[in-house]
Amino acid sequence: MKIEVLRIGQRLVRDDRVTTHVALVSRAFGASKILMYDANPEIKDTVAKINKMWGSDFQVEIIEEWRKVLKAKKSDSYKIVHLTMYGENINSVEAKLRKEDKILIVVGAEKVPREVYDMADYNIAIGSQPHSEIAALAVLLDRMLEGRQFQKKHANAQREIIPSKRGKTVMDKSV
Ligand code: SAM
Repeated sequence: MKIEVLRIGQRLVRDDRVTTHVALVSRAFGASKILMYDANPEIKDTVAKINKMWGSDFQVEIIEEWRKVLKAKKSDSYKIVHLTMYGENINSVEAKLRKEDKILIVVGAEKVPREVYDMADYNIAIGSQPHSEIAALAVLLDRMLEGRQFQKKHANAQREIIPSKRGKTVMDKSV
């Protein structure tokens, strides 16, 4: 399954830390790309450094117009999955989502325009309480990939963590 993430909303540039975390969660939880606009270009460098050290070719694409991106993805047979507390409960839709081939997940920052609700193939709630785009994204990705993303190893990693009960064990693969 190919999964990409689009972050929309106003004043993203004032919300750098959250935007960075949305990007890092997208990468670590199995998406292949994040698309965003109005974001600090440093986020691209942060992700590039993490890719270099810990592997993966996760991409950050800075876009101009999210409406155009949504339309283009829809015509490229992506299903649009908009995360909103007003949507259908994840518990009743997750099995259907797992059968999709290509998904674009839309997460909001502040108020999300009505047209996103209309353009979405799925409006999904991770519980019907307000919380956070970072948490909502993490839970959605985990429900869709069912933990398989945490088994994945990256061939191009310079460092790899060997899980341990105590302490920190890191293998340096660059030497
Ligand atoms: N009032 C906003 C709205 O219209 O959804 C909430 C903004 S919230 C701080 C930012 C983003 O977090 C939302 O756009 C949505 O993508 C995500 N989010 C927050 N709570 C959620 C929930 N219970 N289920 C799914 N997504 C949620």
